[in-house]
Amino acid sequence: MSFDKLGLSKPLLKAIKEQGYTSPTPIQQKAIPVILEGKDILAGAQTGTGKTAGFTLPLLELLSRKHQNKKKHYPKALILTPTRELAAQVAESVSLYGKHLPFRSAVIFGGVKINPQINQLKKGVDIVIATPGRLLDLIAQKAIDLRQIEFLILDEADRMLDMGFINDIKKVLKIVPKEKQTLLFSATYSNEIKKLSNELLKNPVLVEVARQNRSSEQVSQSVYHVDKGRKRELLTHLINEGEWKQVLVFTRTKHGANKLTGQLEKDGIPAVAIHGNKSQNARTKALADFKKGDVRVLVATDIAARGIDIDQLPHVVNFELPNVSEDYVHRIGRTGRAGNEGEALSLVCVDEDEFLANIEKLIKKDIPKVWLKGFKPDPSIKAEPINMGGGRGRGGNRSGGASSRNRSRSSRSGSSRRGASA
Ligand code: AMP
Repeated sequence: MSFDKLGLSKPLLKAIKEQGYTSPTPIQQKAIPVILEGKDILAGAQTGTGKTAGFTLPLLELLSRKHQNKKKHYPKALILTPTRELAAQVAESVSLYGKHLPFRSAVIFGGVKINPQINQLKKGVDIVIATPGRLLDLIAQKAIDLRQIEFLILDEADRMLDMGFINDIKKVLKIVPKEKQTLLFSATYSNEIKKLSNELLKNPVLVEVARQNRSSEQVSQSVYHVDKGRKRELLTHLINEGEWKQVLVFTRTKHGANKLTGQLEKDGIPAVAIHGNKSQNARTKALADFKKGDVRVLVATDIAARGIDIDQLPHVVNFELPNVSEDYVHRIGRTGRAGNEGEALSLVCVDEDEFLANIEKLIKKDIPKVWLKGFKPDPSIKAEPINMGGGRGRGGNRSGGASSRNRSRSSRSGSSRRGASA
């Protein structure tokens, strides 16, 4: 299958070629023709599947068919994303794929000064990529007019709902015209997503790519059983032994990310933390240093990591397992991207057994277990409840409350898995 068959015109095919893409990914093969027919879609696709190009390319194509010769720049397409990182990444894709087309785009998110965004909007833009909060601020200040929007795209809609953006989304929906094409992308299909899509989409075409086949084929996953107090030591050991140059490490909390970063630095491993408490500039710099190779370890929380686009990331480490199983799938989607092989390791202590069981249930497979010599867990250490460290964004925790923790402790007493060794 080649891109030529999808109905995209020359300026886009040229940009695709310049990116070095030879064939469309499954989500692109399925989504692009349907979007070009003008239909609404509900697409199930995760980060790493090529979903961004899956909606950006046909959007640019449709805009160029309708507006190629008109010089007026006003917002015609709105792309909503849950986080600033994802907004920035989508904006980068829009500029990249649209580089041979005359459209202007603006990226709108909070945490940075509003005036430059207002000025950019004043000059006129065709495509707006925004997080909901700052967009509403700009609407309130009458700095943006969404009454001529023809295309609305919700990227990572499930995450937007998790982060408590539903009311913000509804406010935006009241402003944009009823008559428009809407594309909804979501990694998961919860009841909330179904409800939102019923409200939002007109006769949508369901576009899905196989859920985890991709990652299970290309990402080798393993679980290292280790005591909580020795995780840092094991991580340092793995990085040094494996001579890893670039590794993304996930922690559950911002505090945990900072602490681990400090410890790795003490071990002589250049590391930097990226999370919601850091300014946008600090995050951009951290990412740039990591991409350049000046920093070997990027320590991130789930929310901060959303939308970070790093190609060919060889190693992802779960320093702590996420309490929300879907986050595991998102995390390991950072490696093994677009045809490259990757490795995802999870350092799992006795407190996290239930998280692991839930993850394995979700991905429908057992992750191979490793008990590394010198790091075998001390059987006398008993499970303790996990401190979630203050929730996730506006929405709070989805699960992992006291009841599930209690369950986890009682179910663990019968477990014999820890007896084996490797
Ligand atoms: P996404 O799922 O949109 O985050 O994209 C994941 C990565 O795949 C990005 O780094 C894209 O640059 C890359 N990508 C997207 N489409 C293709 C393609 N057709 N061939 C190769 N790489 C691609």
